[in-house]
Amino acid sequence: MNSTRQTVIAGNWKMHKLRREAQEFCRHLLANLEEKPAASVILYPSFPLLADVATALDDPRVSVGGQDIHPAASGAHTGDVSGPQLIDAGCSWVLCGHSERRADHCESDELVARKAEAALQHGLTPMICVGETAAQREAGQTFEVLDRQLAAVFSQDFGEFALAYEPVWAIGSGLSATPELAQEVHAFLRQRLSDLVGPEQATWVPILYGGSVKPENAAGLIVQPDIDGFLIGGASLDPDKFLAIIRQAAPAA
Ligand code: PEP
Repeated sequence: MNSTRQTVIAGNWKMHKLRREAQEFCRHLLANLEEKPAASVILYPSFPLLADVATALDDPRVSVGGQDIHPAASGAHTGDVSGPQLIDAGCSWVLCGHSERRADHCESDELVARKAEAALQHGLTPMICVGETAAQREAGQTFEVLDRQLAAVFSQDFGEFALAYEPVWAIGSGLSATPELAQEVHAFLRQRLSDLVGPEQATWVPILYGGSVKPENAAGLIVQPDIDGFLIGGASLDPDKFLAIIRQAAPAA
């Protein structure tokens, strides 16, 4: 395994928190985070919180990202947010293709690909989310679905990115994938990425697991050879739970 592979712990706040709660979270996080955490830490607050959180977290240990991006740089797109606006608010990352956006906003694989391209074009690192539904898993379609989601986005010479495997049935359900199941899928994803973006980039790209990660199940998942960190929803809302997960993250090398 490549010793330069980065461990990444990311919190997706979804449509939670008001400005004052976000400020308190940031203060608590910075006060209790190790001086040199073993992982890169990212927070994805909702759009109205971004600038406040980026200002509160003006600290090299934590980065900030948007939860979505429009493919265009500006224009008549009510309710959307562009790459330059995310950069202006202090973001360096952006989520692309989270399953809640794929479901709630009918985002296709092709649209996710255009969002990822826009992110790279504007200097943001995309964290691209893929994952199968319960029905797809039960029908034996998991690898076919993941293959389709990857093939729509990735090709040779793709820029820097992270991938998040988030089985839809595990998100917010309390039913995390077992370490063995997650490792099997992550190994498949890394192999497919190797075909799509090339073996070198596939070796070092961080592949995060997401789906009901909490302090109680993080240790078993993070020791898997192809799990390089987590994208965390519910448990990232509580700074002590988020910190407890960060502390379990050892470098993936
Ligand atoms: C998510 O929405 O990205 C997620 C993983 O949520 P949870 O941790 O709550 O399952």
